[in-house]
Amino acid sequence: MENNFKFYNTLSRKVETVIPNEEGKIAMYTCGPTVYHFAHIGNIRSYIMEDLLVRALRYYGYDVKRVMNITDVGHLSSDGDTGEDKMVKGAQREHKTVMEIAKEYTDAFFKDFQAVGNCMPDVVEPATNCIPEFIEMVETLIEKGYAYFAGGNVYFDTSKLDDYFVFSSAVEKEQLEVGVRDDVEEDTNKKNKNDFVLWFTKSKFEDQALKWDSPWGVGYPGWHIECSCISRKHLGEYLDIHCGGVDNIFPHHTNEIAQSEACFGHKWCNYWFHVHHLNDRGGKMSKSKGAVLTVSVLQDNGYNPLAYRLFCLQSHYRKPLEYSTDALDAAQATYDKLAKKVASLKEDGAVDTAVFDDFKQKFTDTISNDLNSAMAITLVYDVLKADTNDATKLALINDFDQVLALDLYNNGKKLEESSTSVDAELEAFILAKIEERKEAKKAKDFAKADAIRDELLAKGIAIKDTREGVVWELV
Ligand code: AMP
Ligand code: ZN
Repeated sequence: MENNFKFYNTLSRKVETVIPNEEGKIAMYTCGPTVYHFAHIGNIRSYIMEDLLVRALRYYGYDVKRVMNITDVGHLSSDGDTGEDKMVKGAQREHKTVMEIAKEYTDAFFKDFQAVGNCMPDVVEPATNCIPEFIEMVETLIEKGYAYFAGGNVYFDTSKLDDYFVFSSAVEKEQLEVGVRDDVEEDTNKKNKNDFVLWFTKSKFEDQALKWDSPWGVGYPGWHIECSCISRKHLGEYLDIHCGGVDNIFPHHTNEIAQSEACFGHKWCNYWFHVHHLNDRGGKMSKSKGAVLTVSVLQDNGYNPLAYRLFCLQSHYRKPLEYSTDALDAAQATYDKLAKKVASLKEDGAVDTAVFDDFKQKFTDTISNDLNSAMAITLVYDVLKADTNDATKLALINDFDQVLALDLYNNGKKLEESSTSVDAELEAFILAKIEERKEAKKAKDFAKADAIRDELLAKGIAIKDTREGVVWELV
């Protein structure tokens, strides 16, 4: 297979060609949601762009295995190990158990995740399923001298690494500053400022709902260890691609690398794919700020979730994206127009293979060049305008949809049907009203006849009496 699939690797700070550990196969890990609240449309932006990566790699011919964790324990309100467990806080807020809210928000997450056209990960693993694996990795880290026990917790000793700050990018520096601001409570058990908790037993978290026996006492795992372990459990010690939003770069991904490489004794993951944030007027959309604009809410307000997918695909994953209702309205209008156009294509003969191959090559080049999704959408327009028959256009749109997952044809057909049925319904209503008015006039009930005329006018329908009979028009 020709191999020229490139994307921006946060680790090397370069757009690089992907060279997998095993030819033709990609082992990919994705940080999943922390299920203490609904996933907002910002979280979903990250998952849409990661789905684009998975689909593009598969389109390119790779056999991708993608694993996602579900964080249902251990993620504290500050990524730097301070504050309360987000799950405990969520359960208290809703007067439910941690496991109840974990189930509720996991189900809600995957409903929205799939509504925007994402394919399910091959493996989904909740953190609470893997306690023995966490304990085993923490034991190895202690044995190898990378971890220490202090004040009831087990910590990773970052001073044992030659280079802890592996992502020394501008983004990491930005995150570092946020981390510093968040880290108001100083944990005096830490030997070094950046050390982080692998296992908690500290009584400070007395109301921790879920606790397990461990060699260090009853407790629960830190957040970072879960991703290192779940990834190893399903993908082994050599990972090709790790994904997440840019806020995960530091400290989460930095800590994952520290743990995994200290444990395995070799480089762990070659490519790091990070999606930039969805912002609203208040800045980064975030669950902790109480932002709960979800895909389901958009749907309840009459938007098609795939119009939100289109909105995301129109921008590059490495640029922050500004959300507003106007921007989404524009995406919905574009989506409907495109969908209707695609649905109007007729199966009118044989596919022109020369045209098909030419466009397919362009599309492949576009998506494999650091996932140029905006250009991929432009190619959809180019196909629709191309000088070829409808059958070729349809074949191309369907082919591209393996990557774009916009389902334009089916949604266009639905739009066609609904607009015809609305028209028919409206016409039947108007004709019935005209008939009713005729009867009222016959009975000399002119007040009623006028009331019917006014009722229709209020609905934007003007009727006029002409010599040929009553006519109507929309005003
Ligand atoms: P969480 O549930 O908070 O652990 O986040 C789930 C995923 O969403 C992670 O990959 C985050 O990096 C990502 N994320 C969080 N906030 C945003 C945002 N405003 N825009 C895009 N991605 C985000
Ligand atoms: Zn993670």
